Amino acid sequence: MKVTFPHMGTMSIPVKSMLEELGLEVVVPPPITKRTLDLGVKHSPEFACLPLKMNVGNYIEALEQGADTILMGGGVGPCRFGYYGEVQEEILEGLGYDFEMIILEPLQGDWKELFRTIKLLVGNIAITKIRSAWQKGWAKAKAVDKINRLANQTRPYLLKRSQASEVYEEGLELIEQAETIKDVETKLSLIEEEFNNLDRNKNFEPLKVGLVGEIYVVLEPFTNLQIEKKLGEMGVLVDKSIYLTDWIEGHIFPSFLRQDQKGKKVKEAAQPYLNHFVGGHGLESVGETVLYSQKGYDGVIQLFPFTCMPEIIAESILPTVSRDLNLPVLSLTMDEHTGEAGYVTRLEAFIDLLKRKRRKEVVI
Ligand code: SF4
Repeated sequence: MKVTFPHMGTMSIPVKSMLEELGLEVVVPPPITKRTLDLGVKHSPEFACLPLKMNVGNYIEALEQGADTILMGGGVGPCRFGYYGEVQEEILEGLGYDFEMIILEPLQGDWKELFRTIKLLVGNIAITKIRSAWQKGWAKAKAVDKINRLANQTRPYLLKRSQASEVYEEGLELIEQAETIKDVETKLSLIEEEFNNLDRNKNFEPLKVGLVGEIYVVLEPFTNLQIEKKLGEMGVLVDKSIYLTDWIEGHIFPSFLRQDQKGKKVKEAAQPYLNHFVGGHGLESVGETVLYSQKGYDGVIQLFPFTCMPEIIAESILPTVSRDLNLPVLSLTMDEHTGEAGYVTRLEAFIDLLKRKRRKEVVI
């Protein structure tokens, strides 16, 4: 069995580690390129949301490299994610690929589904082996998110801002190569030291922007056209409202094991504007925007795929939040037609507005 799975940001690092520790042969799809997008767009329904198309492109490229089993997450709730797996399976079968699709349904704190999926992948296996695979993968997931945060927090202060991406990319490779949890920790300390040693302008006071929106677009740099790097290199401190480990904690860990009660705080913050689940991260986009305002951020950017229902709901509410809290919010819709030049122009105009607002030259 040669297993593959879709990309979503740096998710391949912990997932590959976990599957290999379980004794599986893993085919990581090649890094996302224009070809991946073109393949996905060509073979998916036009009205499907962008992540479905990107996944299809990933699968085709992995199947071309010999993968025969696809591991995909399932979903529940009002948005389309719940039937992604089935639709993707039909598309690939229609193209003549021979493979098996295994769908990991949302655990919601019930680990039996995880064990069922692992059994489908590797048969009967000692629980200790599953635990050690999980622990190593989790250590890598935490490390990768940590260096992502560090890159975003460091970049705007640097005399040479491109160095943050260099250290970050190097760091990802080091974490990927780490053989043990101890090794992950050692490499993480080295990367932190490298970030600390970069020359910076300590008196610089960057604008602070929070990113909210649909998880795939927020986490996948190819799809969001490297927004973290672009804003950071404009001198903006960027914070993402969601990381892979946040999502795992919220969806896989039972509530008593979650490190913080972030989900509860987000729901409370959203409550005056939206008080029920609308699918995806629509509720979170509203709540996180309120929280960014409370934390003194200068602005918020909402990112989502064209036709994403939960985020369209959030988008219709955010102008009220923006007015009430005097916080500029920019909503950006992404699809296969998004052009980089227009995108950058909108980002630059938004940052310019934030600068003028900070200097009290404009009132929103
Ligand atoms: S959250 Fe949006 S983009 Fe993601 S599957 Fe649902 S509708 Fe599609």
